[in-house]
Amino acid sequence: MSNIEQTLSIIKPDAVERNLSENIKNIFTKNDLKIKENKKIHITKDEAAEFYKVHQSKPFYNDLCAYLSSGPIIVMILEGENAVLVNRKLMGATNPLDAEENTIRKLYGISIDKNSVHGSDSIDNAKKEIEFFFKN
Ligand code: UDP
Ligand code: MG
Repeated sequence: MSNIEQTLSIIKPDAVERNLSENIKNIFTKNDLKIKENKKIHITKDEAAEFYKVHQSKPFYNDLCAYLSSGPIIVMILEGENAVLVNRKLMGATNPLDAEENTIRKLYGISIDKNSVHGSDSIDNAKKEIEFFFKN
């Protein structure tokens, strides 16, 4: 049975800045994730704080919000079979040092904070995150 899902992907400032966007998008499309929406934006720190509010109690929250708003990002809706999980697999572990070979974070991540991509971690969060960036 088919299970087509949508998920939110963000190419973070460190990767946009190093012109890695096309390489990263190719990884998605080669792995049967279609890019349904795609836009380059530069969000404010307040918007980043709203987006990442699930992490507001974490010690890294302030730096994380400052970082996501530090430069242009590319936000995308990815669609495909089991898209949420497939995207998380393609991304690799949060810390690039722990990420598997050929994952985006292993290939391109600089550090646990500058780890090149964001991806929704559940269907529910995917819906909320898509809404956050693509519905007014
Ligand atoms: N992060 C960080 N320090 C940490 C853990 C996380 O800077 O110790 C950042 C990192 O950029 C990560 C984001 O916070 O991508 C969100 O953390 P989460 O645990 O949700 O990881 P992800 O879902 O992105 O793998
Ligand atoms: Mg997460």
